[in-house]
Amino acid sequence: MRPSDETSLLTGVGPKKQQALSRMGIETMKDLLYLFPREYQDRSKCSRISDLTDGITALIRGRVMLTSVTGSPYRRKQTLRLLVADETAETDEFVQHRREDMIEVIFFNAKFIAKNIKKGEVYDFYGPVRIFNGKKQMVHPEYSESGREDMAGIVPVYPLTAGVTQRDIRKWQRILKEEIVDEGLAEEVIPEKLLMENNICGIDHALTNIHFPESGQKLKEARYRLIYEELLVMQTGLMQARSRNLAASNRCKMDPKVDIREYTKIFPYKLTGAQKRVIEDIDRDMMSERTMNRLVQGDVGSGKTAVAEAALYKAVKSGYQGAMMAPTEILARQHFRGLSGHFSHFGIRVGLLIGSMKASEKKEVLEGIASGETDIVVGTHAIIQPEVVFRNLALVITDEQHRFGVNQREVLRNKGSMPHVLVMTATPIPRTLAVVIYGDLDVSVIDELPPGRPEIQTIACDDRRRDRMYAFVREQIKAGRQAYVVAPLISESEELDVLSAEELYEDLKKRFAGFNVELIHGDVKPSEKDAVMERFYAGDIDVLVSTVVIEVGIDVPNATVMVIEDSERFGLAQLHQLRGRIGRGTEKSYCILLNRGNSKIAEERTQIMVDSRDGFYIAEEDLKLRGPGELFGLRQHGIPDLHMADLIKHISVLDKVREDARGLLEEDPGLEREDNEKLGERIREMFGSDASLRI
Ligand code: ADP
Ligand code: MG
Repeated sequence: MRPSDETSLLTGVGPKKQQALSRMGIETMKDLLYLFPREYQDRSKCSRISDLTDGITALIRGRVMLTSVTGSPYRRKQTLRLLVADETAETDEFVQHRREDMIEVIFFNAKFIAKNIKKGEVYDFYGPVRIFNGKKQMVHPEYSESGREDMAGIVPVYPLTAGVTQRDIRKWQRILKEEIVDEGLAEEVIPEKLLMENNICGIDHALTNIHFPESGQKLKEARYRLIYEELLVMQTGLMQARSRNLAASNRCKMDPKVDIREYTKIFPYKLTGAQKRVIEDIDRDMMSERTMNRLVQGDVGSGKTAVAEAALYKAVKSGYQGAMMAPTEILARQHFRGLSGHFSHFGIRVGLLIGSMKASEKKEVLEGIASGETDIVVGTHAIIQPEVVFRNLALVITDEQHRFGVNQREVLRNKGSMPHVLVMTATPIPRTLAVVIYGDLDVSVIDELPPGRPEIQTIACDDRRRDRMYAFVREQIKAGRQAYVVAPLISESEELDVLSAEELYEDLKKRFAGFNVELIHGDVKPSEKDAVMERFYAGDIDVLVSTVVIEVGIDVPNATVMVIEDSERFGLAQLHQLRGRIGRGTEKSYCILLNRGNSKIAEERTQIMVDSRDGFYIAEEDLKLRGPGELFGLRQHGIPDLHMADLIKHISVLDKVREDARGLLEEDPGLEREDNEKLGERIREMFGSDASLRI
């Protein structure tokens, strides 16, 4: 048997089980070996039945004294009851078993089990104990004939899918251990040197003990080793792919005579200290010997656009082109409008490129980009399509980076001769994670909001106060303000008890007769979407009902009300983004979070939003509630699925791994030495063949 063999070659894996395994992403013996238990049950000791207490989970060994089946034998729904007497207990001379040494074991729907269990035989049972009317019971325990290996000791519990049982997997793991691990066929991917230096155990010891721990200590060693391995493969892979970028010398040097501060004079406000500092960072980067690779983090409303504009100004005035990519058409249009206005003062030409444009329009823009007539192109992912050819692209900016995959950004980068890269995000990312996701880029933080920002009051509300809430919204729009009403769904759903945007729109049109209520969502035709947003910017719409299409970037200072329906359905970071759409002008603003359920968690989440406007704090709380993968969209950032390691929990291992990976690559960048070959192979396996595109 070889690790690369298909699972169908394993005893007991027929087409059905193979399919089930495949659903879990398991195709080969190696995949199965790397399916690790999600927890372990300590069954190293049998409990005395007389010692069992209510609510514990225990392993007992007992003889079946009586069996009874109730319910019609023709139906599947039968209940099997066993009276089980403790095999390990001392028995009484006359009655043989004392009452306290007996337990009733119950199986529902037990036709199959009834055939398997024989009166008079001894079995092991593992399951929850309850005491019912003074009688001990165990319901639906795991069971096996007494003394079988897979029931005793520290027992692994695997993640399952329909069609595969714990017993199946334990049985298969035992075969794999004997035929692969014990035969020395498991691959060692960690180079010998690192094993020694870090004092970590070899692959055989690790695989044996992760599945069949001989002791708690050995399990720990195995876990550490496998976490280290997984992180090493990921981190070395990411670093390897990036190394060409890191080393890149600056081929788009900006003109030192161009004063970036000239540009900032056109703003009607004074830049904040933080904005100035970040603009200086960027200015220095783009004139330095190395290509810029910088992440700008700034909470919603901190003024990231102005920073991006200054960078674009520097690039264009130095004789190059720049590109700015936004995750939605709405946001791309908003940037286009803003940038065209500002740059027209300097004779700099801005073009817009989005997917929904007419072919003729698109052609014109493409020609402008190719000839260099267009200095700056703003758009969606349309600007990374192959037909877009730049004359001399030197700066690529992605706004709201967290909404993009890395691949997209990378393709755009490849369009120029190594342009500078600036990514902007409002999602605060813990430093270590940022390093994993973006590589060794430099980070600037805009940690200051422009002065004079109005207060945003966040209010929790439920259905009973809906009328009063609308009365309040009416006051606001009467005073000339505008409101957003956001719903989690576009149209009515049978499964979810949620108000959809369409339903709300119909209702609000009636409630706010005489005012202008409009609807926008992802399924609205692009041209119509634009028209609606156009009118909202112009102040012609009083209430805009929408889905999260307006989540990022939208900047309408006159909007002061944000009503979020069924707010428990949104992530905290998302709520923070949505709330960031208001409080951008001079008027006090209001964010109303509607919750129709009354779960404790929903309440806690609402409270976090009411208490804080600090994106970092909210992201941290979100992280606690949701876990890192989901929050940062790791997968869409090109970070592969991790089985064992957790980027937050295992940060200290990750730090060590980064150091080791760097050392490895310094000595052997292509991982070609014999010692490192296997690691290289595993990296290609983890990332697929296009690792170079991943980041
Ligand atoms: P974000 O960081 O969320 O992208 P924006 O760039 O959209 O923020 O800026 C939010 C609003 O603040 C815009 O209306 C912008 O004109 C304004 N703004 C940006 N910088 C300043 C500043 N230094 N002083 C006052 N207003 C500013
Ligand atoms: Mg923005």
